[in-house]
Amino acid sequence: MQYAGGVDVGGTHTKIGLVARDGRILAQARLEPDPRGAFEELAATIAEGLRRLHREAGGRLSAIGIGNPGYTDRHTGLTVGGAFNVPCLHGNSLATWMGARFALPARADNDGTCAAAAELAWGAGRGRLNFLLITIGTGIGGGLVLDGRVMRGARGFAGEAGHFCVQPGGLECVCGARGCLEQYASAGAILRRYQDLRRRRGLTVDPGQPPAGVLAAAAGGEALALQAAGEAARAIAQLFGSAANLLNLDACIVGGGLSHSGDLLLRLVREAMPDYTLPLLAENLQILPAELRNDAGLLGAAALAWEVLAS
Ligand SMILES: [Zn+2]
Repeated sequence: MQYAGGVDVGGTHTKIGLVARDGRILAQARLEPDPRGAFEELAATIAEGLRRLHREAGGRLSAIGIGNPGYTDRHTGLTVGGAFNVPCLHGNSLATWMGARFALPARADNDGTCAAAAELAWGAGRGRLNFLLITIGTGIGGGLVLDGRVMRGARGFAGEAGHFCVQPGGLECVCGARGCLEQYASAGAILRRYQDLRRRRGLTVDPGQPPAGVLAAAAGGEALALQAAGEAARAIAQLFGSAANLLNLDACIVGGGLSHSGDLLLRLVREAMPDYTLPLLAENLQILPAELRNDAGLLGAAALAWEVLAS
């Protein structure tokens, strides 16, 4: 059987797997290379893991895709920034290294772009040719599909949805700009806003509360949680409406950890959409949850490999 290798590089661990053309994961493993260690060590650990899976599975490994937490320059293949949790990636190309080691086509891309590729191949994006996907977690990532193709842009950095401005002059962002979506609708931002609202009313704050707990409280009707979730949803709708007006999308898809916490956030986004979307462009636009969950990162990396094989 023919399969692609997927490598989802993360700050705490790296997931690797062998994935068939239809999206079935044939084998997978979790590796824990030192994210602060040397690039060679990281690359060698991943290669050794892939070889082991490949030996055990016994099929034909045809290409390797790598989901990179940072920015990958599409021309040089080098990670040029953003991989704060795996600093050894900077200035290096895991795709070039793996391609040479395995003598196979290999490509790396930002994990938001990978997530869009996976939803297009095997998830909520199947049969939809034009969509924007955002992943809500610690930050907000994104990927864009137009006319059935995953978009990269001039250097490969397209889809930075988290840094779309939703509030001119608003909260300062890690990127240096102000008012970015990430500061209003990431998991941490929703939790911060909720706790801030509680403090202002002299209410107690649970420092260990997970962000998903805010959405659960909102779904249960707690007013301040609902306010925090509603504000985040409005910021997301601002991005989705603007993107739809600009690109005439079929769908906007929400993935990432927080998208698994019930459908409240998506319902609130849908409610706010008419304020930001031209009626004609809203007619066929759907707001959907991502379908790929726990293995989304691994499938995203593998989808990249299959994309290379199909091109
Ligand atoms: Zn920003």
